[in-house]
Amino acid sequence: MNVYEQVIELAKRRGFFWPSFSIYHGESGFYDYGPLGVILRDNIVKIWKEAYLSDDTILIDSPVIVPTAVFRASGHLEKFSDLATECASCHNRQKLETVLKAGGFHETLTTIDEAGRFLSDHNVKCVICGKRITEAYDFKLMFRMPGQSSSGDLFLRPETAQGIFVNFKLLNNFYRNRLPMAVAQLGKGFRNEISPRQSLIRLKEFTQGEVEVFVDPEKKYWKEFKDEQEITLVPRSGPEIKMNIYAALEKHVMSSNAIAYFVHKTFEILTRIGVAPEKLRFRQQHTDELAHYSFDSWDAEAMLDGDWVEIVGIADRNDLRNHQNASGESMSVRIDDREVIPSIIEPSYGIDRMFLSVLMHSFTINEKGFKVLKLPRDIAPYHAAVFPHLNKDGLDTMAKEFFEQIRRIDPYVTYDQSGSIGKRYARQDEIGTPYCITFDHEGLADKSVTVRDRDTAKQIRISVNDLLSVPILENKKLIEFSRQQAGL
Ligand code: AMP
Repeated sequence: MNVYEQVIELAKRRGFFWPSFSIYHGESGFYDYGPLGVILRDNIVKIWKEAYLSDDTILIDSPVIVPTAVFRASGHLEKFSDLATECASCHNRQKLETVLKAGGFHETLTTIDEAGRFLSDHNVKCVICGKRITEAYDFKLMFRMPGQSSSGDLFLRPETAQGIFVNFKLLNNFYRNRLPMAVAQLGKGFRNEISPRQSLIRLKEFTQGEVEVFVDPEKKYWKEFKDEQEITLVPRSGPEIKMNIYAALEKHVMSSNAIAYFVHKTFEILTRIGVAPEKLRFRQQHTDELAHYSFDSWDAEAMLDGDWVEIVGIADRNDLRNHQNASGESMSVRIDDREVIPSIIEPSYGIDRMFLSVLMHSFTINEKGFKVLKLPRDIAPYHAAVFPHLNKDGLDTMAKEFFEQIRRIDPYVTYDQSGSIGKRYARQDEIGTPYCITFDHEGLADKSVTVRDRDTAKQIRISVNDLLSVPILENKKLIEFSRQQAGL
């Protein structure tokens, strides 16, 4: 089994995530987050949110159901679609791109006419039954609810961004009419993907964390920054390079301060949550890949089992002009003596893909052949697990009592007294719990316990009172212990 398959197996068995509606044979493109997955996802979101709140960003929460007028103005109604094929023989539907790739064709076809000509000139085959594909059609990606409103159809939003754009004036007023201004929204997006695949990578209902940074179109500037960190970049025009983002901006590899700033910030957020820096790159999209609303885009891509997968897109877009034209409401602001419609730099984070990348990059097998999720300590669902060494001699009573006390200080703890101690350690390693706290005979007299480090399996002895003084991850002795174990 490759890493992806092992993670999928572990995720289902240990309560991270699994396919939805399985008692009714499932529905492709939908996944449930289980008890541990919900906590892990919240931890990722918390870091994302705090990274932006601490950087002058404001938050908003707008409806997931949106009237037609918004998507007519944004261009989604007309242009948000994929070229698709349906096999005349087995009726399997696929993205045209997928069918072409499977047949070894590397052409990028963007219109129905182009696709039609290509399919009549080439022998492109169905990926399922192998029969020839001769036609392509335009497959609309938005979920539509016909006749649900007096003003026309309603749609499930395919991105959270439009909810911010339509509120630009109110938000800018709140922001005291300053520019640049950054507004973030976390929420569900919906796309009727033709061929949902690889669990959390292509879902029909997914979670996005989008940030819309409104900037002066002449400068596209957010803030100064300086950085020494080397990051892998793949510019549209040339080969892969490793350089720090500040240098990339100076050498015009990136077109604006705002793009460079948010590429850098995204690198920091992703590596902070547990995406491996050596399995992360930023690739500039080719012009024929760009979405209908975007002029430039740098994608954060994670290496997942040999494939680069986009997990965050950082786009340069200009939606306010469209909304001004369609609604008649002014979207302009004054900068000095100029009246301008702000440009938008948009880092758009796919929370589900980030979640999967974190699991895959932290997945390891130890020397005993057991699975260990080496998650950052504050991303792991549980901070600690509490065990009695044996279920007798008062050890179990003490351990249980301690557990009841510690969970009032730190709710992210769990208790386990079944099976051998080795099995319990292995169970916690598999879900990434950084510490296992064990009540043993040696500690009966001086009220102490052992604490085992997940990554090295080394232990220290620590007093119960010390552990009960602060939440687990704030305990100074444990922080020091972990630093030593990590060789810092
Ligand atoms: P986009 O608006 O297409 O640039 O999407 C922004 C981010 O949302 C992407 O980088 C993905 O991480 C995420 N995303 C887009 N579509 C899906 C999907 N069908 N399933 C899961 N995540 C998605």
